[in-house]
Amino acid sequence: MEDVVVIGAGIIGVCAALNLAQRGMRVHIVDGAPPGSGCSFGNAGLIAVDHVAPLASPETMAGLPRMLLRRDGPLRLHKRSLPRMAPWLLEFAAQAQRPRYRRNTRALASLVTGAAQAWRRLLDRHIAGDLFRDIGSLYVFEHPVARATERAQLDLLDRHGVRYENLTAGQVRRDYLPSLTPHISHARYFPGMASVTDPQQVVERVFEAALAAGARFTRAAVDALRALPDGRIGFMLNGAMHPAAKVLIAAGSRSAELAQQLGARIELTNERGYHVQLGGPSQETLRVPVSFVERGFTCNPMAQGIRLAGTVELGARGAPDWRRADLLATQFQTLFPGAGAAQVASRWYGDRPTLPDYLPMIGEMRGARNVFVATGHQHLGLTLGPLSGELVAQLMARETPAVDLAPFRIDRF
Ligand SMILES: Cc1cc2nc3c(=O)[nH]c(=O)nc-3n(C[C@H](O)[C@H](O)[C@H](O)COP(=O)(O)OP(=O)(O)OC[C@H]3O[C@@H](n4cnc5c(N)ncnc54)[C@H](O)[C@@H]3O)c2cc1C
Repeated sequence: MEDVVVIGAGIIGVCAALNLAQRGMRVHIVDGAPPGSGCSFGNAGLIAVDHVAPLASPETMAGLPRMLLRRDGPLRLHKRSLPRMAPWLLEFAAQAQRPRYRRNTRALASLVTGAAQAWRRLLDRHIAGDLFRDIGSLYVFEHPVARATERAQLDLLDRHGVRYENLTAGQVRRDYLPSLTPHISHARYFPGMASVTDPQQVVERVFEAALAAGARFTRAAVDALRALPDGRIGFMLNGAMHPAAKVLIAAGSRSAELAQQLGARIELTNERGYHVQLGGPSQETLRVPVSFVERGFTCNPMAQGIRLAGTVELGARGAPDWRRADLLATQFQTLFPGAGAAQVASRWYGDRPTLPDYLPMIGEMRGARNVFVATGHQHLGLTLGPLSGELVAQLMARETPAVDLAPFRIDRF
């Protein structure tokens, strides 16, 4: 039996821990916070199988100036973060060029098109089935899309076998969202896009399954990582160094700090997002989850009521800007004038771990054998968690991973 330490009990860490424990490894999960209380706590709950293309794209580049100029827009980059963010932004601009974007789309699609089956394998193990909902999801466009852009979007979906139905404003109001404003252009329904009713509980259930498979948990942050003279990896908890045969860094947006201690520089940033949980109106307002494309947020009827989640503050540090969260409730009220008052019951923010090419990072460190990293799942951690957990466990067990992991290696930039 090998001693394996998994740093981070977010969706990625717990899915990896489950697969490692099921291989008979002696798994030790460590996290300074309770499982699922990082970014995985408050996401929008979509298993976004339509996201086959990375956000580092020529279209995003073209739309950036307009997005950044809108104060209440879905994307914000603070001037004071610019010097710190410069290397990330330059790499992002390089990755968004057409040839790299095409290559990165092939890579991301190789994961996303396998996400639903990996979720199915998790459900088949009787994990989180009661939190899973297979009712599809909607995207609403408030403005018409240029014909060529629309054709390119649909071609991409067709190429990767993503099913969709285009709907008129009338159809979407009649069949899915009766209290939606009539002032929209059109919508697209994705029947294969499942969702969950409580993302934090999903992490909890996978965590419990990992414990049942033999893993153990220590509630403490890893303060340091060192390569030990005997070839093992030392991890420091509460001032004491412990040895492990293998270490997985799955610490979300904090992963780069840990990897750096073993000599790897990872160009990881955080994309801060927010949610508000509404106390009213009732979940009946939404028959399915819906995302508003131009505004960049999702409304999902969840266990605790309707959750509005989204927006991006690139590289945000320090205190959250709760106006970003409150704006979601204001926008909901505009979009659903017939739904009754949107009472904010709670607000949350979380930091998505994001690399400049918008691909995850799943690999072994070149300079530190037996140290593995699984991070950078950006807007897709819930979607890809079960699959990434399987793949990194295969890698750590020295099996051949089911997906070619070369595009996701640590030293790719
Ligand atoms: C508003 C919003 C909406 C989103 N919507 C969706 C969606 O609909 N679908 C989707 O697929 N994804 C979505 N995402 C993205 C998704 O939530 C993330 O990709 C995912 O949660 C990342 O998981 P993680 O395990 O890598 O990180 P985290 O969940 O942040 O977990 C990392 C863990 O590591 C721990 N940690 C950090 N440092 C240390 C240390 N030194 N020692 C020990 N432990 C440490 C932290 O405490 C934390 O528990 C959304 C994100 C946001 C913000």
